[in-house]
Amino acid sequence: MTSPVLFLFREDLRLKDNPALRAAIETAQPIMCLFVLDEETEGAWSAGGARKWWLHHSLKSLMADIEEVGASLTLKRGKAEDVVPKIVQEIGAKQVFWTRRYGPSQIEADKTLKEILKSRDIEVKSFNGRLLFEPWQFTTKTGGYYKVFTPFWKNLKANGDIRAAVAGIRKINGLPKESQHSVASLALEELDLRPSNPDWSKGFDPEWSPGEAGAKDRLKRFLDEAAEAYKDDRNRPDKPGTSGLSPHLHHGEISPIQIWHAVKERVAANEIPDDQADVFLSEIAWREFSYVLLYNKPDMIDEEINPKFKAFPWADMRSAKPDLTAWQKGQTGYPIVDAGMRQLWQTGWMHNRVRMIVGSFLVKHLLIDWRYGMEWFWDTLLDADIASNTASWQWIAGCGADAAPYFRIFNPMTQGEKFDPNGDYVRNYVTELANLPTKYLHTPWEAPKDVLKAGGVKLGVTYPNPIVDHKTARLRALDAYQETK
Ligand SMILES: Cc1cc2nc3c(=O)[nH]c(=O)nc-3n(C[C@H](O)[C@H](O)[C@H](O)COP(=O)(O)OP(=O)(O)OC[C@H]3O[C@@H](n4cnc5c(N)ncnc54)[C@H](O)[C@@H]3O)c2cc1C
Repeated sequence: MTSPVLFLFREDLRLKDNPALRAAIETAQPIMCLFVLDEETEGAWSAGGARKWWLHHSLKSLMADIEEVGASLTLKRGKAEDVVPKIVQEIGAKQVFWTRRYGPSQIEADKTLKEILKSRDIEVKSFNGRLLFEPWQFTTKTGGYYKVFTPFWKNLKANGDIRAAVAGIRKINGLPKESQHSVASLALEELDLRPSNPDWSKGFDPEWSPGEAGAKDRLKRFLDEAAEAYKDDRNRPDKPGTSGLSPHLHHGEISPIQIWHAVKERVAANEIPDDQADVFLSEIAWREFSYVLLYNKPDMIDEEINPKFKAFPWADMRSAKPDLTAWQKGQTGYPIVDAGMRQLWQTGWMHNRVRMIVGSFLVKHLLIDWRYGMEWFWDTLLDADIASNTASWQWIAGCGADAAPYFRIFNPMTQGEKFDPNGDYVRNYVTELANLPTKYLHTPWEAPKDVLKAGGVKLGVTYPNPIVDHKTARLRALDAYQETK
């Protein structure tokens, strides 16, 4: 007697190092692979526009990979708590396997689904396939969770025995045809994931290859070309100094475990210096830290971790709306900010240093509530991640755990000059300034009239004047900060 297993793919769209899938296969029962697009349960936190584009391509790639190992992926849309039990009944499954998720609404949804299935005598097995460690695994000496990154990172390195990657999948025994046919799959196009109205995804294609093979290539390229100088180049948006793995990691096309071991192997082979690797792995640990915060403080998705900031006098959006729009469109008149916002719109990704600059500009120069920034990123980032996005916005706004102090206000001119010294990054995205001499590229308003004219720039016409004066905005932000004390 066989009793089929249902495997639910969610944020683990890969066949290699997928402990939940490996365990399902080890049952030696026929397996049905299912993906349910459940926007209803996740509500405001379901995938934004950019991530849906990624999901479309990632599912396409996963479907081909699953077919290659002998099975197929069934696609459905609806509330998982309705769809899954129905399918379980139709195929006569006795077990359901999945990889754990950690967003508050995801945890709730999975709990509900588990209870429904258990009440029908269906066994549910869940696994960690998303993080190096479970977010509850490392505690401070007093038994609480870490709120400061450095001791967390030290503890992880000293006590974290990183498990080996589990073997890849060579064969999936799908369901016998008659049972599979009782459950019709939607066609991928029917999930309607690609952006329309507007379709801003044209710039994504040349930059990205969603899917497990794309993730593997991206990691290899990083290890071959950039990892050896990561510590030095990671802050330079004008160079390909970081891995670009974030959308792959978010969708689970590669695991942090695979990345960790791949880096360590290169260090052992003396191909990457230890200190460079250490900084890169500490960034992977920032991702873990974000999940620790989210798991232990789930209301951080819309409430300040530091309660003092609940009274912060954010700008009234009835009058600040034009500032928000200028920021979103990359029309603030500050070249490094505009370059970042345009990189985001065009490519679905933004360099980390520039994320910090544009984030600081929004919450400090414009005094706009960090939640508006987070929402925009949620819709436009291919790597939009509930833990990293929220923790990072709170960090930038000064209200998070181990956050940048609010009074440290990034100066967009000096940041631009320091991290984009030749202006290559700004020229690439703010093309209307491309012919200005580098000296004025980050401060076009300081350029003499003849220089502007020679560069084809008419301030206020071809490129905006700054929407706020830096010095005035800085003082206004510091005044506002006094109100949190
Ligand atoms: C305001 C703001 C919002 C952000 N929103 C997100 C988000 O939604 N999703 C997201 O994945 N990252 C977010 N980050 C963190 C960081 O900017 C990106 O992870 C990084 O730029 C991704 O590029 P990469 O893969 O080349 O990074 P690399 O430098 O190559 O780092 C490797 C991996 O480490 C992780 N990582 C790196 N930096 C951080 C960090 N500061 N916090 C958490 N994880 C990190 C990522 O998974 C990344 O892929 C945000 C940062 C800021 C300042």
